[in-house]
Amino acid sequence: MERIVFGPIPSRRFGQSLGINNVPYPKKCSYSCIYCQIGKTPIYQVERKEFYKPEEIKKQTKEVIENLKDKKIDFITFVPDGEPTLDINLGKEIEILKEFGIKIAVITNSSLIWREDVRNDLKKADCVSLKIDTVSKDIWEKINRPYKPINLEAILQGIEIFSEEFKGQLLTETLFIKDINDNKQEIEKIGEFLKKIKPNIAYIGYPTRPPAEKWVKIPEREKVDFAYIVFESKDLNVKVIEEKEKREFGFTGNLIEDILSIVSVHPMSEKEIKKFLKDNKGNSELLKELIDKEEIVEVEYRGVKYYRRNFK
Ligand code: SF4
Repeated sequence: MERIVFGPIPSRRFGQSLGINNVPYPKKCSYSCIYCQIGKTPIYQVERKEFYKPEEIKKQTKEVIENLKDKKIDFITFVPDGEPTLDINLGKEIEILKEFGIKIAVITNSSLIWREDVRNDLKKADCVSLKIDTVSKDIWEKINRPYKPINLEAILQGIEIFSEEFKGQLLTETLFIKDINDNKQEIEKIGEFLKKIKPNIAYIGYPTRPPAEKWVKIPEREKVDFAYIVFESKDLNVKVIEEKEKREFGFTGNLIEDILSIVSVHPMSEKEIKKFLKDNKGNSELLKELIDKEEIVEVEYRGVKYYRRNFK
């Protein structure tokens, strides 16, 4: 059976986060964001469908939690290589995973939130993180590159409805890209929209891992600071996702499976992957083997080597 559960991996927002990859490889998404750290979208999809039986996910999660013994898990997080709300069983899965007594989070690109069934599924989680990179159609098309049939107006309306109904912790995430969504007018407009939906925390950031498109540039620091000031002036609790972070990855017993499941969702830097191998009695030959078999690819970004899953 495919590996659905990975980690725990450290997350800025969710502490030690046990990941649920509820949308199977290769990546399926309603967007193909220019900055996506797992590469271009090979399969565009907007229809919800079943990928796994909820019981399968529960069984794997139980096994991983048991293997981890006393290791702390702060959140079980739906963070697949694709969009988690494409999974028609998401609501059921959240319900049954709650039986483990660990908080559940979902990181979504918000593209299907105009659907009532999607909002109802998300409402079952303890924490939901919504992607809001822009509120302007032309910029949305450039940055998130949506699948044609979706509509930004409907998405923004869906976000507003969800924010009124949701009782859990609501987070938003806005990534800024140089010369695309980092101009003053757009920052102001995003801030106005966020003010309406009142997230518990409005995260802002820029791509810190290799983006899908090599030409993507990070904004100047002043632009990020400007966004911080504008958002704060709108009474938002703003946090900047900073570049430097030390990450410790959880080992669940099978090095190859662990690496493949982590890099499907979070590219690992050369330093991180070597440390992970060393800590878990692996050797660098394993890394070479995965590259030779074209299971993972090496990507250079801002002078650092990263490894991500190869969507062949
Ligand atoms: S960043 Fe998220 S929403 Fe954008 S293409 Fe990648 S997986 Fe899809």
